[in-house]
Amino acid sequence: MAKRKGSKNRSLKRFLAVILLFITVISGVLIYRSVNTRAAVGAQRAQDGANNASQEEGEQEQEQEEWLLQLVNKQNPIHGDNDIELTELSNGERVDSRIYPQLQKMFDDMRADGVYPIVASGYRTQKEQQQIYDKKMAEYTKKGYSKEKAKKETEKWVAVPGTSEHQLGLGVDINADGVHSYGYEVYNWLAENAHLYGFIHRYPEDKVKITGISNEPWHYRYVGVKAAGEIYKQGVCLEEYLESKGLN
Ligand SMILES: [Zn+2]
Repeated sequence: MAKRKGSKNRSLKRFLAVILLFITVISGVLIYRSVNTRAAVGAQRAQDGANNASQEEGEQEQEQEEWLLQLVNKQNPIHGDNDIELTELSNGERVDSRIYPQLQKMFDDMRADGVYPIVASGYRTQKEQQQIYDKKMAEYTKKGYSKEKAKKETEKWVAVPGTSEHQLGLGVDINADGVHSYGYEVYNWLAENAHLYGFIHRYPEDKVKITGISNEPWHYRYVGVKAAGEIYKQGVCLEEYLESKGLN
């Protein structure tokens, strides 16, 4: 009897040992798989991140395209009308079609913040710029200014035909709609946020000596998100930025 009892105990012990081994192996496999899955997810995320980064780099490189950073001012006039594709806005103003999506996005976000802008002036032909220039000249002449003084005052506000960014289709005058918003609400919003959409305040107060144009809180110029971000952060104007990049 004692012998048989001992053999029963031994087989029970063996049985338990097998079960224990089985549990150990199964949990080992499960742990191994879970660690591997986590590693795989981590690796996938890292890969996705790398893909996103290289995609962004590609986009940023594209943003360095020449048209984005074309400088137009007194020293760098354009000749005649540029052959560009234009998109007409609901109020009849036009802009270079390549900036339209970002302009639209910026306006949508501004409205979502309760600020209501309009494009008061977009693309202008050489002839239209000439008409605006002549009109301003006439205003000053009417005030009794000499031709020389009228010209000087006019050119503080209106670019000489051929030297206006409006002729590129990349410069836009943005004002309040006059119903839901005041001018300064739009200007303040733009000053803080426009660079996020690729637009810069082109003629700031502290750069008048360089730009030759008085502070125009409404005039924004599209240069792409990358350049706009750098210009905003560095507190420079387009002339200074291009010079620092060796592009002018
Ligand atoms: Zn303007």
